[in-house]
Amino acid sequence: MTAVAKNFIAGEWVEAHEAAPNLNPSNIADTLGDYARGSAADVDAAAAAAKAAFPAWSRTTPYARHEILKKVATEIFARKEELGRLLSREEGKTLPEGIGEVTRAGQIFEFFAAETIRIAGETLPSVRPGIGVDVTREPLGIIGMITPWNFPIAIPAWKIAPALAYGNCVVFKPAELVPGSAHALAEIIVRAGVPAGVFNLVMGKGSVVGQRMLEHPDIAAISFTGSVPTGRRLAAAAIQAEPMKKIQLEMGGKNPLVVLDDADLSIAVECAVNGAFYSTGQRCTASSRLIVTEGIHDRFVAAMTERLSKLVVDDALKSGTQIGPVVDQSQLDQDLRYVEIGRQEGAKLAFGGERLNRETEGFYMAPALFVEATNQMRISREEIFGPVASVIRVKDYEEALATANDTAFGLASGICTTSLKYATHYRRNAEAGMVMVNLPTAGVDFHVPFGGRKSSSYGPREQGSYAREFFTQVKTQYTLA
Ligand code: NAD
Repeated sequence: MTAVAKNFIAGEWVEAHEAAPNLNPSNIADTLGDYARGSAADVDAAAAAAKAAFPAWSRTTPYARHEILKKVATEIFARKEELGRLLSREEGKTLPEGIGEVTRAGQIFEFFAAETIRIAGETLPSVRPGIGVDVTREPLGIIGMITPWNFPIAIPAWKIAPALAYGNCVVFKPAELVPGSAHALAEIIVRAGVPAGVFNLVMGKGSVVGQRMLEHPDIAAISFTGSVPTGRRLAAAAIQAEPMKKIQLEMGGKNPLVVLDDADLSIAVECAVNGAFYSTGQRCTASSRLIVTEGIHDRFVAAMTERLSKLVVDDALKSGTQIGPVVDQSQLDQDLRYVEIGRQEGAKLAFGGERLNRETEGFYMAPALFVEATNQMRISREEIFGPVASVIRVKDYEEALATANDTAFGLASGICTTSLKYATHYRRNAEAGMVMVNLPTAGVDFHVPFGGRKSSSYGPREQGSYAREFFTQVKTQYTLA
């Protein structure tokens, strides 16, 4: 029997009562091993250890934390090929995408290593004589992290790195489908010398481990990335908790990419193919609504179908693969179900949408492009989270902008145009946290704010120095001089 990958609690690798196999979505005959599934008691043990570790950890010098985070970054960079391979094998991103994601995780740790030594407060004059006012930033205590499967290293990194940088302790629960990447990241963090109790990994189910993290009175805050329905449930629980928990939610998107008549067609097609279908469309920033004005519509659709017919969908680890498999059977079923829904709603499939067979048994699907879709259809309003995109034909820029904004989501919003006037107007008026001009909606940097508006995000931004708003709390101190 092969060993089960363990949880890391209170400075030790510990066994759990349950375990689950970790499958390769490109080849279900290939398993990555068995991984622990933790219990509520494991969360309790992790929280107790974190509580005990917090006073000393929060008082370490920022430079000591800087050194640890730097070591994490260095090891991630040194092992990026190997970790990228693990990530691709586990999640189904292509190998270049897997290595890219791992590199980004290293950059995030490097960034927050630097941030530790930039932590600063403010001294302000009082309105009352003889009084000094200092505003300081303090860690929150124990932060619970609940992450999705689609970026199994980068998303944990953008939560764990700032949490540790600012002196918090961590209880980390990765998504059930990707424990391997989380476990590898945890090993690196442990090796970098984080003191016992400061960082804890509890793999397991949302309904068990995640649920207990929300109930636990010593966990001060939850940073969550995942779907809107789960996020809503977590927010309600965080408010009901005693004491209330601070919460940060990064959730779904139904991101528009507007293509205007004056767009450079080849740029527009690259933005749409990359934004809608790379990473198998399994990105919160995916451009699932392609809003195209009349004058360029037919040329755009023809160029898209031509381009899609050349995309290589295959095993994520094969060289030359451009689109890997969908992450698992239930996500594939959901994607295929939405293709059917789109047909029934009256949209026409211009390309793909069918299940594909490859040499190995995996969850392969041909990227689906709908045309003649409207913005009222379910395929245009609900997040599918797979390789399914719809072209919505509009009359002019004004209708394009109104359609782009007509959604409950507000994560990323893109426009392809050569007009400075329209680009500028769109940047100002797009109702989204991130706006891209002549770029795919899905490409973001690691050091600038990431997040959305409306139902896409709740609470302070992630990434960059803005992360401080969530991972620290402000204290205003008055002293009679
Ligand atoms: P999900 O909501 O199903 O699960 C996310 C996490 O929540 C998992 O770790 C899961 O175990 C946990 N969870 C589930 N139920 C829970 C409960 N009752 N209590 C506590 N925890 C619980 O999402 P997913 O399918 O893993 O990921 C896909 C979603 O993530 C998509 O909606 C996508 O848009 C979103 N996403 C958003 C961003 C962003 O930054 N905005 C980035 C990546 C993914």
